[in-house]
Amino acid sequence: MAVATRRLAALTAADPEVAEILEAELQRQRQTLELIPSENIASPAVLEAVGSWMTNKYAEGTPGRRYYGGCEQMDRVERLCQERATALFGAEHANVQPHCGSTANMAAYAAFCRPGDTILGMDLSHGGHLSHGASVSFSGQVYRAVTYGVRRDTELLDYDEIHEKAMAERPVVLMVGASAYPRTYDFAHLRAIADEAGARLIVDMAHFAGLVAGGAHPSPVPHADVVTLTTHKTLRGPWGGMILCRQEHAAAIDKAVFPGHQGGPLMHAIAGKAVALRAWGQPEMAGYAQRVVANAQALAQGLRDRGLRLVSGGTDNHLMLVDLRPLGLTGRAVQEALDAIGVTVNRNAIPFDQASKFNPSGIRLGTPAVTSRGMGPAEMTEIADLVSNVIGDLGDTGVAAAAQRRAHALCEAHPLPYA
Ligand SMILES: *Cc1c(COP(=O)(O)O)cnc(C)c1O
Repeated sequence: MAVATRRLAALTAADPEVAEILEAELQRQRQTLELIPSENIASPAVLEAVGSWMTNKYAEGTPGRRYYGGCEQMDRVERLCQERATALFGAEHANVQPHCGSTANMAAYAAFCRPGDTILGMDLSHGGHLSHGASVSFSGQVYRAVTYGVRRDTELLDYDEIHEKAMAERPVVLMVGASAYPRTYDFAHLRAIADEAGARLIVDMAHFAGLVAGGAHPSPVPHADVVTLTTHKTLRGPWGGMILCRQEHAAAIDKAVFPGHQGGPLMHAIAGKAVALRAWGQPEMAGYAQRVVANAQALAQGLRDRGLRLVSGGTDNHLMLVDLRPLGLTGRAVQEALDAIGVTVNRNAIPFDQASKFNPSGIRLGTPAVTSRGMGPAEMTEIADLVSNVIGDLGDTGVAAAAQRRAHALCEAHPLPYA
């Protein structure tokens, strides 16, 4: 693309190989219906901030207390980012330095726990995140991890089980949040359980932070000791993490981030986070969170109408899980068939899945990215139709070709916000 090449003028001159890869990826994003619920489309303003000379600066420490000279502008941008985060989420303190959601969680645990302490988090196979106690993650290796899940009959969080395990195990931290849970949480109930068990409550809103920012999901901030989040998912910012907490925990959190788990902060990312946070108060993001949820409802309805079973029957947020077992299909086969026609989803375990982790029985779909492209409920019905056609006739080249044309037409009608 001529315009994109001009945008990458210095890169194209210095390194045509990498420039060509960036061009190819932009083309892929332009021509793909992105339904992976953890992905989104950052604004051109965010990209400018992240792609700037802010990457040149070391700024270990916190605003006003740096270990390096020359940090005047670093202090300004980080303070601005903190102020915007606390205002947007109604939090007392924000640490905006975590490089990603996993390091935010690392620091959050470390603020309260010592190695070997017990943490109670959601089972990975029921929708939890690796960093909530999985044995292959630091969280299951540094801490003694106990897990809870969803009920077999309703596929909703089992609050009785959480209560029982919290009282039996007396964890230092009760961790709440998930990567593949299509419903909201009863944060007041979880707070009460944590209090009764003498545990700290950490809520990881990596996935739904943008829905909270836009008022389309209950906020955990009034209930939790600490809230962690990513800035690149529904929040629509640059790749990164963030921690919100009560003032009483501010010093412990800040120390756990630096020097506990990170060195210098990514100041270009912090500039981008500040830009993304501001957008939530601007017309461009007004109603975005509500549209993401309304689109998820429409997509879920469309899939159900076409005979697909959704875990827990539907969704309250931006994502849903399709159970492929009734069709005798696997997640990998469906993911690959959709990939081939320009629709990106990810295979995912569903609760009580008997299949292998590498080829689980579900796919996970979400609406943040297609909503960012300006699509609405009518387009969601169109997506439900073409996706279910492919799933219903897996391997039929005629069906695949027709679905590909329809997916492509949706992308053409709803371009990315990049020149
Ligand atoms: C995505 C996610 C994270 C963080 O992921 P990173 O890739 O480390 O940014 C943390 N918790 C949950 C629940 C997530 O879904």
